[in-house]
Amino acid sequence: MKKRNLVLIVIAAVLAAVLIAAAIVPPVTAKKTYASASFGAYKHVFIIGIDGAGGFFPNVDTPNFDRIFANGAVNFNVRTEVPSDSGPNWASILTGVSYFKHLIHNGSSGEVQRDSSTKYPTVFGVVRAAMPETELASFVNWNNVNYGMIETDINVTEHQNSDDNALTDNICAYFDEGNKPAIFFVQIDGVDAAGHGYGSGSKEYADAITTADGYIGRIYDALERNGLMEDGLFIVTADHGHKIEGGHGRFSKREQHTTIAAAGKTVVKGGTLDALTRDRDIAAITLFALGVDKTSRMSARIPANLFEDTAGEARNFYKDPLDGIISPVMWVVTLLTPQR
Ligand SMILES: [Zn+2]
Repeated sequence: MKKRNLVLIVIAAVLAAVLIAAAIVPPVTAKKTYASASFGAYKHVFIIGIDGAGGFFPNVDTPNFDRIFANGAVNFNVRTEVPSDSGPNWASILTGVSYFKHLIHNGSSGEVQRDSSTKYPTVFGVVRAAMPETELASFVNWNNVNYGMIETDINVTEHQNSDDNALTDNICAYFDEGNKPAIFFVQIDGVDAAGHGYGSGSKEYADAITTADGYIGRIYDALERNGLMEDGLFIVTADHGHKIEGGHGRFSKREQHTTIAAAGKTVVKGGTLDALTRDRDIAAITLFALGVDKTSRMSARIPANLFEDTAGEARNFYKDPLDGIISPVMWVVTLLTPQR
């Protein structure tokens, strides 16, 4: 059999499986409140985004990551959105929908702003509607997150600094001043710069992840000394990885596999999040931890093996049929893409 025919057969089989699965899984039509002690068990969710770090944390020297998540739950093969670029993925992490829904990319997020009338609000917007007075904050290096993703009219404390070390100084100062945000988002940029410059096989890239690990440790320690981890869920993630020679956007595992690591009082100790986990699931996890129902449009879900008392949710492709077709096809394309 020619390889091309085999590819077409595999794609057709996957599509058929998806359509059958979609037919037997009933659509969720109403908002869902969870019968789980972890639902609403947290007052704070900290999302620490290390741009471009992919799933490479276990490959390099990361003493802070290792100590923080020694009793946490992790997955280093979390699937990104396609394309495996920053705009699509940070936007999916914050909105809980696929790129095919929010359509936010690197260019548009620097040009077009959104407000609370959007069909696909960020977790900031959803929590603001539920908690009008609570503090929400986003401290980033890449300003597109604050400019083009977070709604302009929901009173999020926003900060931008193009130096990761100074950004971390400002983050620690923010907590030492007594701020207690319900959601705190961070985007650190140096790993992505090293990936573009030297590739994911380089010493420079590994060193940049170790440097970012230092920032992760400083932020975590600031939370601990201010008592915020008693009711805090601490998440480290990335938007994509890098090819061995540098760059991203397509289908290799180095580009498309990324990290979710979580630590908190009800997180499974030593857990491995299930194999269907997507980076956009962080939106569902964030709302769940704070006790806020997700919106009916979200296609994010709670992974298995994350919270001790909570089963994993099925992914409901009714909410995003295009994603339901394209995701398995991309999974097959990834399998057939040369990996090195
Ligand atoms: Zn990126």
